[in-house]
Amino acid sequence: MRALTAEGLGKLRFQEYPRVGADVRDRSAFTLIELLVVVAVVAMLSALLLPVFSSLRESSRRAACASRFHQAQLAAMLYVGDWDDTFPIVSHQPGPVSDPERDRTWVQNLIPYGLSLGLWRCPAAPPSSSEPPTAFDPDLTPGDLAYRFHEASKGAHLGYNYLYLSPVLAEGESWIPLPRSLSAVGSPSNVLLFVDSAADRAMPPSSGSWLVLPPCRYSVGRSGAYDTFLLGGRPVFAPLPGWTPLNARSAWFGGAWPWHGRLATTVTLDGSVSARTMADLAKGCEVRPNWGGWVRMGAPYAWDLD
Ligand SMILES: [Zn+2]
Repeated sequence: MRALTAEGLGKLRFQEYPRVGADVRDRSAFTLIELLVVVAVVAMLSALLLPVFSSLRESSRRAACASRFHQAQLAAMLYVGDWDDTFPIVSHQPGPVSDPERDRTWVQNLIPYGLSLGLWRCPAAPPSSSEPPTAFDPDLTPGDLAYRFHEASKGAHLGYNYLYLSPVLAEGESWIPLPRSLSAVGSPSNVLLFVDSAADRAMPPSSGSWLVLPPCRYSVGRSGAYDTFLLGGRPVFAPLPGWTPLNARSAWFGGAWPWHGRLATTVTLDGSVSARTMADLAKGCEVRPNWGGWVRMGAPYAWDLD
């Protein structure tokens, strides 16, 4: 084996080391620029694409919500066809006292007509921890399961315009459902059937409300002003807090809720689905707290039978 002389080592240093060192420096400099370019491109692309992705996600949720409102309207119309032209009653209670084994909400009553569990929830609503599960639980007695299913149906994000379409009269301790007839509606294309809804005003809300209240309750007729929450002189059942002036996202709107940005999905009796702002929902009336407002213009007001 040949010994490496000092001269040889010098040559080696001269020939090898500087060249290798230069290569390393060049490559690392190039890689750094490359990396910076890649980072800049990625940042630019994500800045451009993130809003596109989130608006795509939101528009697909809006489309899915519109489709479930369409199916809910079809289910309600099939029910109307089967039940002598009357709208679904709010709550069917065959016995003298409430019994979740036999009682049925309007939501449950539309299940045979195609309003499946998957359609109860607005696709834009966050999951709720307080909502009772509807899945089968072997530890529950049948009564418990029926109760939880009954309660869960009240959390559907499908608010029913029941005060006009299917009012319930307070009669002492009991409630008498008095569903209206479809033929009593003047303009089905202008009357709301269902509205996207929320059960409480906690931010962010999650559970829905099976009932919604109109923004105004008083109407001005030929014989003067009258309270539309009275039927034959008796009050109709209005359990929820009412509408408040339209100035805050967190304000309470009689159960109606804009799950889609500033928009709530709605469907009219003739099946026309549209996304409306809270201000749109209050068109034609002057909003006061707790539905105390006045219907000033009947034509744009979309809650009563006209
Ligand atoms: Zn929705």
